[in-house]
Amino acid sequence: MAYTEQQMIAVVTALGGTVEVRKYEDKSGDYLIDAPKGSVWSATHTHALREDFANSAGFSWKPKTVASLMTDVLCGIQKCDETDCDMCGEVEL
Ligand SMILES: [Zn+2]
Repeated sequence: MAYTEQQMIAVVTALGGTVEVRKYEDKSGDYLIDAPKGSVWSATHTHALREDFANSAGFSWKPKTVASLMTDVLCGIQKCDETDCDMCGEVEL
């Protein structure tokens, strides 16, 4: 089944993360999905997922992008175990 942008935002929010839908002046756009502070996405071991959903010609392939991002989002989050991580700063133990 296909997920909508709203469903993707709901899943990310439930995990404590945030979704930024960014649209640029040249009509291109992307999603920036941040994991909650102190956590990384298990699928990529990164703090943020980013993927384009439209190009400068205004052509949008949002459903495909949402499906691709949901694959990573549904793998969940895990604690960032990088020491001196710039993204996390001081993490209380
Ligand atoms: Zn970190």
